[in-house]
Amino acid sequence: MTHPLLDLPPLAAEHFASIEQGVADLLSTRQDVVITQGEALLPLEGCIRSGARPGSTALNVVTGPYGTTFGNWLRDCGAGVVDLAVPFDTAVTAEQVDRALAEHPRIDFVSLVHAEAATGNTNPVAEIGEVVRAHGALFMLDAVASVGAEPLLPDAWGVDLCVIGAQKAMGGPAGVSAVSVSDRAWARFAENPAAPRRSYLSLLDWKERWIDAGRTALPHAPAQLEMLALEACLDRIAAEGLSTVMTRHRAAAAATRAGAQALGIAPYVIRPEEAAPVATTLRVPQATAVASKALAASPAAPVSAAGEMVRVNHYGRAASPEAVLTSLTALASALGTDPAGAVAAAEAAWSETVH
Ligand SMILES: *Cc1c(COP(=O)(O)O)cnc(C)c1O
Repeated sequence: MTHPLLDLPPLAAEHFASIEQGVADLLSTRQDVVITQGEALLPLEGCIRSGARPGSTALNVVTGPYGTTFGNWLRDCGAGVVDLAVPFDTAVTAEQVDRALAEHPRIDFVSLVHAEAATGNTNPVAEIGEVVRAHGALFMLDAVASVGAEPLLPDAWGVDLCVIGAQKAMGGPAGVSAVSVSDRAWARFAENPAAPRRSYLSLLDWKERWIDAGRTALPHAPAQLEMLALEACLDRIAAEGLSTVMTRHRAAAAATRAGAQALGIAPYVIRPEEAAPVATTLRVPQATAVASKALAASPAAPVSAAGEMVRVNHYGRAASPEAVLTSLTALASALGTDPAGAVAAAEAAWSETVH
């Protein structure tokens, strides 16, 4: 008997290229898209190791935990690193980035996370892109937690390297990711003798052996299950409509925030416009105990704890009224309070957002 996951016909180069085009369409980009067959840390590390080198200076914007990882890779590549860190309960401003660029004119690489799933904040990339472009630095964006949840326009925003993963708002698998690469970025990689080549981290290998060769023969056996899953999630987003998917995420964030406030819980991210649509973080004393009580009451609630923070992951299929209400009811139960006010506030915020 054939097995639906195991006994598949090989994935043709043409099919692989069409999935790549689907990602390009999702990002409204005319830049080259490289699909990377691993979790999103693969293209993020590949971009940094290709773009940074001894003698280069990088501005690493730290608005959450991933910034620390990027800073470590940049230093490991021998780049001088200027860290611009802001409190994780806010966003960085274009003005702060502009000031850092003016203070350090040698900066030629900027790394930024768009939305932070871990801390629940999101940064104004369009405005930041403008000041980075004016300075002339190469601009890398980690859009893993924003793609599908909020507008993401790498070409319009001057993003040279836009990294996405399928596992958050796209509702897909974690084992596949992608990056759009501008011509400027390709040129920078090509002139960097330290850029990975003949390596799993190499983006230049994919350019040379796949893109420049006309996308006719795949350099390695494709990760077939992940590619098919990525295609399925692109199809599902297209069927629902990207703007509807994004509205659902925005509504989930507004509803979770309103419901939590009705329970007397303060949102971790202070200003609502800086709160990411992908996940809502909450300031909760004894967060671990509260989250485990909430999960005991409702094991399917997308609730977790980190430090003094409870996070509600309302992304992908969980960007739904049901998941939000389940999370709020579970939190109310953990706090020993009546959920009715939170449910009413969440429902009101949801319909206000979608109408
Ligand atoms: C989720 C996420 C990633 C991917 O990392 P995981 O360890 O798989 O969660 C990368 N960057 C950001 C901003 C993310 O939110």
